[in-house]
Amino acid sequence: MTLLPPPESENVAAWVAAHLGHLAAEPDVAPSPRFRGTQAAADAALASLDIAGYARRRNEVLPESRRGATALSPYIRHGLLSLPRVSAAVANAPGKDRQKFRDELMWQEYARHVYARVGTRTRNALRFEPAGDAGPDGSDPWDRSMACVDATVGELERDGWLVNQTRMWLASQWTVRHGADWRDGEDRFFTHLLDGSRAANRLGWQWTIGAGTGKPYGFSRWQVDKRAPELCAGCARRDDCPIEDWPAERTLSAVDPEPLLDRDPDPAATAGPVDQVTSGDAEIVWLTAESLGDDDPALAVHPELPAVFVFDEPLLARLRLSSKRLVFLTERLAELAETRNIEVHRGDPAGILDGRALATTFTPVPKARRLRSRLDVVDLHPWPWLRRPGDGSISSFSAWRRGR
Ligand SMILES: Cc1cc2nc3c(=O)[nH]c(=O)nc-3n(C[C@H](O)[C@H](O)[C@H](O)COP(=O)(O)OP(=O)(O)OC[C@H]3O[C@@H](n4cnc5c(N)ncnc54)[C@H](O)[C@@H]3O)c2cc1C
Repeated sequence: MTLLPPPESENVAAWVAAHLGHLAAEPDVAPSPRFRGTQAAADAALASLDIAGYARRRNEVLPESRRGATALSPYIRHGLLSLPRVSAAVANAPGKDRQKFRDELMWQEYARHVYARVGTRTRNALRFEPAGDAGPDGSDPWDRSMACVDATVGELERDGWLVNQTRMWLASQWTVRHGADWRDGEDRFFTHLLDGSRAANRLGWQWTIGAGTGKPYGFSRWQVDKRAPELCAGCARRDDCPIEDWPAERTLSAVDPEPLLDRDPDPAATAGPVDQVTSGDAEIVWLTAESLGDDDPALAVHPELPAVFVFDEPLLARLRLSSKRLVFLTERLAELAETRNIEVHRGDPAGILDGRALATTFTPVPKARRLRSRLDVVDLHPWPWLRRPGDGSISSFSAWRRGR
């Protein structure tokens, strides 16, 4: 592919339109107005992180000045900020806020453990399947005549990000109220979220709609009035609110629980190496979308080597992600290109990387696992876990936290 542009958004958007536009969800390529995909932006967000009041305000939605959410997730998702680094950054924060914030980082870690172990089968309901008793009726489950839905879907599509509270509203509206298949809703989120990961997105959907716990989260006017009162006040449906009452009870049928939730027969394969594993001289550092930060272990150990990133064309053609995500990733690659030699390709990673002696960081996702087994990885670096995966039960967050 042609040389990367300087990492300013307009240049990057033009580059993405020219090289990746045919893979994007929308015809017009545009960056997120809220997030820049650079290490500099990630570092600045961490440097100004102030979680005082986080425990109290994490669930607030509007006005935005009341929000306690940190909006670090796109940087965490793509490895510009590792979980250990973010956790260390709040060491001196007030105790209750620090505790709550670190609990949320542990939810991210938990999601990664579940995905690393269970893999693509996280697309199946893990313990309970919502019965399709309402069934799709052809209408969009996100009824945009409601101000709460319109504002949040609008934010998702414009910025590529939502606070946790409104993710729960939309997931619950989609499946618990409308009866639509959660996998389609999860895909709609995935299209737009800059932090979209199959790990956290699937876990978030499964937990909200009750597939993980049997207890769905009900969304009603009550939460909107409490967390974003201005939405109800200005809503055209305020006297005819479709979510005035709690949603009707929805039946969930128990499915055979995913056996890997109980025990991992091969925890070493799930967690990756504890130490660097070297079998030869690497010629290039292979970067994945999970680990694009300056402190990616393989990148940091080989400052002299060039790096390579492949936009996985078959995968992207299937996913049809919003161009916001493609711009975000390209901004980071363009920033990296200012200090390192970097090759950027579009195509099938297995073919493009074939025959090259690679240094890389273990990435705990199924696709990277498949690729690593086919490629010539001569220098493999450990993933920066917050807590290394063990072989015990991960059937709930609390079981996981208790166990090893
Ligand atoms: C239906 C649904 C879908 C979701 N999809 C994603 C997704 O694709 N990617 C993603 O990173 N998170 C996802 N989440 C989790 C959570 O909503 C986001 O991580 C959080 O809103 C990001 O905003 P923040 O950085 O301001 O979070 P903060 O509240 O500031 O938390 C700090 C960090 O902790 C982690 N975190 C916080 N809450 C959660 C959580 N419930 N589960 C996992 N990690 C958490 C994130 O890394 C986050 O950046 C989803 C939640 C739900 C209910």
